[in-house]
Amino acid sequence: MKTIPLSLLFLTLSVETLFAQTGEPEQPPVITQEQRAALELEEQAAAKFCESFQVSKEALEIHHSGMLFDGHNDLPWAMRSKANSSFDKVDISQPTKFHTDIARLKEGGVKAQFWSVYVPASTMAAGNAYVTTLEQIELVHEMCQRYPDEFELALTADDLERIVKQGKIASMIGVEGGHSIENSLSRLRELYNRGARYMTLTHSKNLDWADACTDEPRVGGLNAFGEEVVREMNEIGMLVDISHVSPECMRKTLAVTEAPVIYSHSSARSLCDHVRNVPDDILKLTAENGGVVMVNFNTGFCLPKDKLAIDRRCRGDFRIVVDHIDHIVKTAGIDHVGIGSDYDGIRGLPRGLEDVSCYPMITQELLNRGYQKEGIHKILGGNALRVLRQAEAVSHRLKAQK
Ligand SMILES: [Zn+2]
Repeated sequence: MKTIPLSLLFLTLSVETLFAQTGEPEQPPVITQEQRAALELEEQAAAKFCESFQVSKEALEIHHSGMLFDGHNDLPWAMRSKANSSFDKVDISQPTKFHTDIARLKEGGVKAQFWSVYVPASTMAAGNAYVTTLEQIELVHEMCQRYPDEFELALTADDLERIVKQGKIASMIGVEGGHSIENSLSRLRELYNRGARYMTLTHSKNLDWADACTDEPRVGGLNAFGEEVVREMNEIGMLVDISHVSPECMRKTLAVTEAPVIYSHSSARSLCDHVRNVPDDILKLTAENGGVVMVNFNTGFCLPKDKLAIDRRCRGDFRIVVDHIDHIVKTAGIDHVGIGSDYDGIRGLPRGLEDVSCYPMITQELLNRGYQKEGIHKILGGNALRVLRQAEAVSHRLKAQK
């Protein structure tokens, strides 16, 4: 688990918006010297704590006997933007400069991964969102073909379990933003046909039919066509992902969907007041829906906002991510939380979670807080797999009713 120098963290490209673009001019916070000094001490203590933190044999046994199923990794976009979409240029069977490569995925015990086929919201205006998404889907297929002993495309929950049993990483595809369908249900179905198994309703910008959390609300969350998109996703068996959308869009989606939803990479708003996170009342609605909130590791979504206001270089350590897991367990229940790291899509990461090799730190910390093996396995991936299976069952039922 290597440590990235602080200075590098803020130079790397990110597909996440760390600070909300709500249209409000941001007032520079008034910070006292004492506050800054106290925070500096806290950061030093966190660094020291991480250095001496040990992952026990017991934690490793629990970790590797579970099924770590991560909801969001942006390697495909990193490959496109930094390696010209060429696995010759960046061969992930060798150490890479990304958060992700094969050896570290194995060290981290990743069993199943939703690979994000994110394309920027700007492709919407350029008119090439759909075709660029298809190219990113191709890239995931190519990765599976290029490294057949390591990855295999999974299209169903059964596929996933079979592939994991064979010792490979079950690779699923998630579309990050409804702009990719360019207002067309037939394009939505085509993305499904090419392997996509979730779609985040928006990315950073509003769509004609859904409001993003980082834009000015325009359609009251979700309009009639947006509801149609959700119903269509239920029917074809594509998971509805409500990370990135406005709280009102979350509520409306939860009212419309027949299948449990996911938040592929979001944390808890009451611990970090960022619009990308899920408010407590919606966590409770999510429990009723049966869905799963897959916690994002981004420092900007996990560290309490007052600390970030003092110094945006603050990182905290992996325990802040476990705080979010813990909070969601307490608010929604242990059946409704998962992992959605956002590796290779974010800039700032807490100490101890620098790359995909680091997930066992979370298992150890859960164990330290009194979680049992069964509960830890649910959090690592059992809940996400259950939701996938339930969404498939809803799809079968809706198709049979037709
Ligand atoms: Zn995202």
